[in-house]
Amino acid sequence: RWVRPGDIVLLHDPQTLGLAAHLRRAGVTTIWRSHIGVDHANEWTAQAWEFLRPLAEPCGAYVFSRAQYVPPFLAGAPVTVIAPSIDPFSPKNQDLAPAAVARILRTMGLTAATGADGDADGGTGVFTRADGSPGRVRERAAVVGEGPPLDHEAPLVVQVSRWDHLKDMVGVLAGFAAHVAGRHGAQLALVGPAVHDVSDDPEGAAVLGECVVAWEGLAPSLRRHIRLVTLPMEDTDENAAMVNALQRHAAVVVQKSLAEGFGLTVAEGMWKARPVLASAVGGIVDQVAPDTGVLLPDPTDLDAYGAALEGLLADATGAAALGERARRHVRDNFLGDRHLLQYAELLERVLAPGPG
Ligand code: UDP
Repeated sequence: RWVRPGDIVLLHDPQTLGLAAHLRRAGVTTIWRSHIGVDHANEWTAQAWEFLRPLAEPCGAYVFSRAQYVPPFLAGAPVTVIAPSIDPFSPKNQDLAPAAVARILRTMGLTAATGADGDADGGTGVFTRADGSPGRVRERAAVVGEGPPLDHEAPLVVQVSRWDHLKDMVGVLAGFAAHVAGRHGAQLALVGPAVHDVSDDPEGAAVLGECVVAWEGLAPSLRRHIRLVTLPMEDTDENAAMVNALQRHAAVVVQKSLAEGFGLTVAEGMWKARPVLASAVGGIVDQVAPDTGVLLPDPTDLDAYGAALEGLLADATGAAALGERARRHVRDNFLGDRHLLQYAELLERVLAPGPG
């Protein structure tokens, strides 16, 4: 009842593709939008594309988040590459004053009270919710390990990810411990969603468990610079405001993934004018232009990662300039206005009367 002949329906990712043939029979044009693709082709990826091919063929147009993800069978088809974008007004990316950042981090239980947040009344961090109403961060994060709160004035290295092996949180920890801990006063926060229950998210619980084991295996003198942080997920706006504050406070935003679909945490860090250190994998290479961040050619090379991180921490002026260029690059390429215009142009093309 909602879809009528002549409508255009956007189908997202492979899960919805089975609808395309039915919708075509109903006189509806479909556009298939895929965020996934193949990094390294092999017989299994070829089989997967062969499975999807007949389901995709009835579509009128195709959108991929990366040019590299377009499968060979769509050569010559009406394909548009539209990269994802971030919303600069969302709780995740909106501007936050340094005092609000400090208050949010303190409310979360991550840092101690300092002069920076400028109020002694125990006030919590204020932000604007997605619906425009005012929000406050009230919840605490869970921080693994005993120890005093982090030093708000010391440089904080941050990676925010799901607890997934491909994000290599353990590698981020091991490289930091081996090459950086104890220098420049640097601290590391590995941040991800709360994992309540192994039955809920077995992989997340397992990866977080591996991080805890790695952390516990460090000498106490190293451990005290490193925190594993899990964020409450019940209130998505509040969770986003916490991520926002962490990224804004970060001296360096790391995304040392072993593989990545797009990796929007990179654009999020760059938008906040942070120096970003990230693996040259997946969509991360589309986001980091020359001189707008540091790319690691081999994400498993912990020496190279440690040296690059050390270099950014040692040169605060250079890192700040890198962050400013990153923010301009995201402003020009990865905000929603560019995204909207590309969709408008695509819909115009799809709606244009065909020849004859
Ligand atoms: N994220 C979050 N809270 C968390 C962990 C991650 O909001 O506790 C967000 C992160 O800020 C980003 C998204 O989840 O916006 C992850 O997207 P990305 O493309 O980096 O990786 P994916 O998880 O899709 O592989």
